[in-house]
Amino acid sequence: MHEKIAQIRSLLSELESDAIQEDNAVKFRAFSGLELPDIICDVVDLLMPELKPYELSFYIHFLRHSIIENGNPYIRVSRRGMQSGVVKSAYAGSTSGGKDADSGVASFKTVQQAIEGLEKIGAIRQEGEPNREGTLYRVRLPEEIEVCQHRRAEQAERPSITATEREADFYNIRENRIKIYERDNYHCTYCGKQLTRFTATLDHITPVSEGGDNSADNLKTACLQCNSRKTARPLGDFLAETDAR
Ligand SMILES: [Zn+2]
Repeated sequence: MHEKIAQIRSLLSELESDAIQEDNAVKFRAFSGLELPDIICDVVDLLMPELKPYELSFYIHFLRHSIIENGNPYIRVSRRGMQSGVVKSAYAGSTSGGKDADSGVASFKTVQQAIEGLEKIGAIRQEGEPNREGTLYRVRLPEEIEVCQHRRAEQAERPSITATEREADFYNIRENRIKIYERDNYHCTYCGKQLTRFTATLDHITPVSEGGDNSADNLKTACLQCNSRKTARPLGDFLAETDAR
């Protein structure tokens, strides 16, 4: 379990550093109104319990190089590519599912089993016949996968928070978060950078640790860079420092 979470974290940090280094937030285009953190949460909560560790590694690899990277749910997979280079990073963290794990090269059998497992559960679907460059797959988001839909429905039956609490929470509730991003026109309110649903984050003006709440008045849109620089310091300190530079 910890291993899986570490994999998801490394995926997230990889994406984040891409966005920061290349300043290419626009590259991560919005896809069907979802946000990256929500997709990752769905993967962890709904899909991960259904997958074997190496299946998860492959799924994350597919997701990263399709929907997340270019907003397009299709990816062409060559068996040779999967066995060697491309899958190295995704595969290296997995300790089960292949005798070649140490070398970072998945065995043919491992690749085959992972792809079959993902197809069986409906996480990917083959499109058309394979050609010389490989096989085309349509990658599905957890919300499109039947077992995940069931799992979510089960979770929804257990009442966790009241409708009033939902309405007031602009931090944890997806629909409400989007309202803040829209209010701020998808711009970082500190540095002005143009953001997308995948790169925007919310920042507490008064930190939760100092009694700040999740109301709309206490939240601002921030890029990851500004948000992590600010961490839990009060807004006044942060702005003073920014001005001084
Ligand atoms: Zn910023």
